[in-house]
Amino acid sequence: MTMRHTHDIAIVGLGAMGSAAALELARRGLDVIGFDRHAPPHTFGSSHGDSRIIREAYFEDPVYVPMVQRAFERWRELERASGRALLQQTGGLMIGAPESALVQGALRSARLHGLQHEVLSADEVRARVPVLQPEPHMVGVWEPRAGVLAPEACVQAQLKQAQRSGATLHFDEAVEHWQADSGGVTLASAAGTHRARQLVISAGAWVASLLPGLRVPFRVERQVLHWFEPVADAAAFAPQRCPIHLWQFDGERFFYGFPDRDAGVKLAFHHAGEATTADTVRRDVAPAEVDEVRRAVRRFVPAADGRLLASTVCLYTNTPDEHFWLDRHPAHANVLVASPCSGHGFKFAPVIGEIVADLVEGKPPRFDLAAFRWRGTD
Ligand SMILES: Cc1cc2nc3c(=O)[nH]c(=O)nc-3n(C[C@H](O)[C@H](O)[C@H](O)COP(=O)(O)OP(=O)(O)OC[C@H]3O[C@@H](n4cnc5c(N)ncnc54)[C@H](O)[C@@H]3O)c2cc1C
Repeated sequence: MTMRHTHDIAIVGLGAMGSAAALELARRGLDVIGFDRHAPPHTFGSSHGDSRIIREAYFEDPVYVPMVQRAFERWRELERASGRALLQQTGGLMIGAPESALVQGALRSARLHGLQHEVLSADEVRARVPVLQPEPHMVGVWEPRAGVLAPEACVQAQLKQAQRSGATLHFDEAVEHWQADSGGVTLASAAGTHRARQLVISAGAWVASLLPGLRVPFRVERQVLHWFEPVADAAAFAPQRCPIHLWQFDGERFFYGFPDRDAGVKLAFHHAGEATTADTVRRDVAPAEVDEVRRAVRRFVPAADGRLLASTVCLYTNTPDEHFWLDRHPAHANVLVASPCSGHGFKFAPVIGEIVADLVEGKPPRFDLAAFRWRGTD
């Protein structure tokens, strides 16, 4: 294929962030061309596994609260536009020692932004959600708006709506390299060469391979998700009765779980996975990894300690401070990087789409993006 015309914007990577950016840019009338090395939604990156948590009392930093509030609106809009159910409200519990970062951080965001919340003792958590068994010293921060997003359906809906709005999307076509000049960016894939005025790199765990010559501090981390069959009180895991739940325990360890969405009870550790790369990651799950998560299941969600139904491997792309990385390339103002989301980015995808579109159009940012700037590299 030869180069035909210059698109307004090219997007490399059409997972959570790239599909959101493609939709928002196409919706605004820009001529968008997008590429993905696979055909999203797929299981090789960071956006699979049936469920993602969305929560408002953001323990990581209150700076995310206005963004997540906008994300709730945008996911509901996408539901209306696509006719698909994407977000299920379940409420959420952040459980840990009163002084833990999880509990303190959730309370800080809730108080600063006047969010509806309650602090529950361990007994109160057990009374409200009998399948959750916090230890006596723990407390729970309850927030009513939290819930579950269906990541595969979300990505599919974003891609479909982007195409409906005029975006040209190429699947199973990896971009091998790109070159920027004052007039735009030239991209090369196995199928040919393409030209655009601006480039968005949203390649998730592959992002560093598209930033040659830059010492970026991204660390790809292997994460394993597990689905267990309940041993008791299966009905109590229904989304109407079981909220999403996050736990901080034994100091700095994090664990989380979902209600049963017809495939079993999904439970996993957050972080503490091995460092890896998108191309070399170990996809098989060792029995010792199942044993380890089962120990946490027995301790905190014992009614889910049944047969292991499935496990899958997924990738976090972490920055050193675990804030997102959402900025222009330091050497090329017409290239944007919108990807490393440190294991907590999915819920924000449509907002990241809006932020990217504003940056592309040169509009003032609608959120405080200081924490997401290019940092700590050449
Ligand atoms: C186990 C797990 C649990 C998580 N839980 C939550 C949660 O509960 N809540 C939450 O908000 N977030 C959560 N996250 C984080 C969230 O899912 C990620 O932040 C988000 O999915 C990242 O999206 P992305 O678009 O950056 O990556 P991806 O969706 O992986 O997309 C990157 C895309 O780029 C493509 N690509 C790569 N290289 C090229 C190339 N050279 N050319 C063309 N295409 C290319 C890939 O094929 C891929 O489709 C979780 C992540 C994991 C792994």
